[in-house]
Amino acid sequence: MLREETVFGPIHSRRLGRSLGINLLPTKGKLCNFDCIYCECGWNCDGRGDTVLPTAAKVRTDLENKLMELMLEGTQIDSITFSGDGEPTLNPEFPRIIEDTLFLRDAYCPSAKVSVLSNATRVHVPAVFEALRKVDNPILKIDAPTDELAARINQPAPGYSIERVIEALERFEGDFILQTMFLRSKDFDSASPEVLDGWMAIVRRLKPRKIMVYTIDRPTPEKEIEAFSVARMEQLVKPLLDEGFQIDIKGKE
Ligand code: SF4
Repeated sequence: MLREETVFGPIHSRRLGRSLGINLLPTKGKLCNFDCIYCECGWNCDGRGDTVLPTAAKVRTDLENKLMELMLEGTQIDSITFSGDGEPTLNPEFPRIIEDTLFLRDAYCPSAKVSVLSNATRVHVPAVFEALRKVDNPILKIDAPTDELAARINQPAPGYSIERVIEALERFEGDFILQTMFLRSKDFDSASPEVLDGWMAIVRRLKPRKIMVYTIDRPTPEKEIEAFSVARMEQLVKPLLDEGFQIDIKGKE
């Protein structure tokens, strides 16, 4: 599923309500430094044809036009969400685009939140970190607690280090949202002690203000992936709920 526009929607998001999407990646292909087995955009190798990234100027123009259109229609939105066909922080103009988006949000729809869905691999870059600090909802992914386990579910590009990600996230001092996919595949099980115990140790270290735990609800590039029910995920994260962590769970009923 690829977004064919830079600004798309609004769509209904399970986690963010009525959401206007911004895709900072190519419109005809996916670009990511992960290649998650569950990615709704497919495998990276399926989208090599298009590597053109939208410029900050294009994003600003497209977003302003869309926000004006929504205002004239009387359509309200809950979130302006960076969630395109890949990792938004790979766009080299990401910090400038965030500045422009916050300006336009304040001008046209001040009650909407600005949210960024990111795999957290570039939080160690100072300009990316500063930009993420400015948005309402930096929603940052950790699915697996070790590099070896991340290789099975996220298939990161060479050089990934979970410890570097954790150290970068510590600089938020808890003021971010952690997002984590729960699933079972042929060689990865979010409910196994090696994954779950390690992930909970990271949660306790980072103390995010909120955690979003979710499971697959669209076709996945790797086949035979098992989704988790809400009840199962509630049971798995119960120790964290009992410790007072705020956890939003989305899954099969
Ligand atoms: S980080 Fe997101 S965009 Fe990148 S491969 Fe994983 S699910 Fe897809």
